[in-house]
Parts: sequence; C-alpha cells; structure tokens
Amino acid sequence: MRLYDTMSRSLVELPPPPGPIRMYFCGPTVYARAHVGNARPFLIGMWLRSWLRKTGYDVTLVHNITDINDKIYDAAPGASAELAAAATEWYITDTGDLGLGQADFLPKATESVPQIVEFIEALIDAGHAYAVDGDVYFRVASFPEYGRLSGQRPDQVEEQEPNPRKEDARDFALWKANKPETEDTWWDSPWGRGRPGWHIECSVMAEEIFGPVFEIHGGGLDLVFPHHENEVAQSRSLGHPFASIWAHNGMLQFTGEKMAKSAGNVTTLRDALDEWGRETLLVFFLTAHWRKPIDFSAETLAQAAARAETLRNAFTQTPAAGGDEWSAFADALEDDFDTPRALAVLHGWASARRLDLLRRGLEIFGLASLADREAAPAEIVQLAEQRQRARADRDFASADGLRDELAALGWEMRDEAGGGYSLVRRG
Ligand SMILES: [Zn+2]
Repeated sequence: MRLYDTMSRSLVELPPPPGPIRMYFCGPTVYARAHVGNARPFLIGMWLRSWLRKTGYDVTLVHNITDINDKIYDAAPGASAELAAAATEWYITDTGDLGLGQADFLPKATESVPQIVEFIEALIDAGHAYAVDGDVYFRVASFPEYGRLSGQRPDQVEEQEPNPRKEDARDFALWKANKPETEDTWWDSPWGRGRPGWHIECSVMAEEIFGPVFEIHGGGLDLVFPHHENEVAQSRSLGHPFASIWAHNGMLQFTGEKMAKSAGNVTTLRDALDEWGRETLLVFFLTAHWRKPIDFSAETLAQAAARAETLRNAFTQTPAAGGDEWSAFADALEDDFDTPRALAVLHGWASARRLDLLRRGLEIFGLASLADREAAPAEIVQLAEQRQRARADRDFASADGLRDELAALGWEMRDEAGGGYSLVRRG
C-alpha cells in the first residue's frame, strides 16, 4: 500500500500489516454548521481506516475538534463556549449521517490546555520560543527545516500574523494573551491569562494520543501552510519525528450555472445530505482522486445519483458466478487510494452481475446499503410520508424529528435526487 506524501513529494510505502497505522486528520473549527467541503478529509480518513483494517492493519484514527479559535469568538461574542459545544454536536450528527461511524478519538482543544502549556514551556526551555507581553511566539530562525513541507525557502517564508512584538516576521503565536473585549474564554498560564494558538493545539493533541511519532497526518491542501508547516516546526524542533506521511486532500469547488437555480444555497454538509442523501454524496466523493480538486455542482451530483442507482439496480439481477477478481479493486486502492479506479471496478462488477464482489467492495465505503433493499412496513412508510410533507412545508424541525423517529425504529430515510426517497433497514 502506498500513499503520496507532501513532505517528500513522492509515493511512500506503508509498513506491512499489521502496522500499526496511526492517523491524525485535522478536524473542524466549530463555529457554524460544517461546510460540505469538510466532509472530504473526514471521508478520506474514514475510508482509509476502513480499507486498512480490511487488509489486516491495526489502525487508529484521531480527528480533532478545534473549539478555541478567533472565528468562534467572532461568531458568538459573549457565548463562544456555548456555540462551540453546539457546533461540535452538529458536526458529529452531520458526519454521523454519512453512515461510516466516527474516528476512534475526537479530542478537543479545550480539554488539552494543560498539556499545551507544558509543550510550550518545553519549546521556551529549548530556545525555540519566547514570551512577550503575555504572548508566546515560535522562533522560526531556530528551526532550519522550516518551509520544507510547503516548499518555501526558509529565508523567504511568507509572513504570518503581522505583529510588532515578534522578533521576526515569520514567527507565529503559540499562546495569545487574553483580549477581554473580544474573548470570553481564557486559561491561566505562566504567561498570564490567555489561550493557545491553533497550530500548537494539533501538535499536542496528536502527540498526547500517539506519542512523538505516527504514520499519517491528513487534512486539506489549504492547511499545508501555515498550519501544518507550524506543526512540523513545533514537534520536530523538540526532536519528535511527528508524522511520517503528510496526506493532503484536494479542495472541493463549486462549479456550474445550474447550481444556483436547482440547489439553492447548498453549502453545508447538512444541506447536502438533506438534498441528495447519503449514498449519492458518498458516490460523489468517490468519483475524484483524493489529491485532486472535486467539482460540486448540480451536474456532478446528478451523475453521482445515477451511478448510485446503477449500483443499487444491479442487485435486482440474478447473480453471476465467476473467478475471484478482487485484486483489480485492491490494486486500485493500494496504489495511492485511487477511488475513481476502484469505483470503475465496482461498475464493472455491477454489469457483470458479480454481486458478491460488488457487495464486498461497497462495504468498504459504507455503501453496503445499496445492496439491501427491503420492503418497509406500512407504519414506517406513513412516517416517511409525513416527513416528506413537513419538508415540502419547509418545517425542518418536524422533518428532522420524524427522521430521528424512523432511525429509532431502525429505518433510515434517504432522500434521493428529484425529491424521492428510499427506506432502508439499518443493519
Ligand atoms: Zn490541525
């Protein structure tokens, strides 16, 4: 199994099974309902874990919650902690509705502050950081490898967070003194009341769970600089090897004229789930290689819905016998986790009626439900119809309540393109 690594700019072979494979994927900053683009690193992490476990690896996935951040203070003056707690629940609900479960650990920055303070003290003691007026900054000049991950020359690194208190324009904050007029949460530290910077949170949360070395660090390409460059500096300057492979996913982009007309303002994962349903969204994300950009539009979603339907319809046919061609699917995923290629193999099996192989492949991606059509009893259909009416009346609170009621009875209601729905027994 090999994966592309941003640091070495090459494909890197994973250690043989059982590993272990310890993966840290940067999670959301919780101040609003998650953007649909946030689903991508989540899904890549969950799918990779699923595949690696299937192939005999011992895998642990950590997905952190950034619940201390300027965006949260800005979004909810005077009530930032309440907003962060609510948005954390939204994120867990919405990603949970993708039907793949959750990461093994979901650490929160607010629960890691004492460890963050200790880590910063170690950086100061080693000469890699300095305190000024209640702030603490990382001294970039003390870490000659700085810029390697993002491909910048150390002496020409882009300035971050301009601030006259810094020794050097490239330095970045590890600890920020409390600003009472805008920040309603703070923690005590040797430098006074304040709160951690974003980058140090991830170095500490990763190392708290994994120790100083782990196999894969994931996140969007937009995080390479400064976020991940700074994580590398914080950890490696203390001699911790930190991540062996840096896996950065391409960004989701909105395209297409039709988007605005037919889909309204779908930008959140919640909206996307309600509009297209779980299966269509999963198939959509499989259609692009994880490192490439992916176009989110009415056209690409409609294509994904049609693909999901083709795969589902395959199970209405009589299965055909044949040899074990699993390797075509495995080869695609072992080669830099090439899901478009794996999806093409699944479609091949659908047309060849190799339903046993098709079901096994779909399971990896949380799509086994495509193989499970079962007639719903009348009272379940009645609840589903009520929910359709509530949605048509834009009474989303009732609609959500009815969906939860169905879930409690063991049925998942899936919205399909074109306004239809299907009912699937949850297994
Ligand atoms: Zn992070």
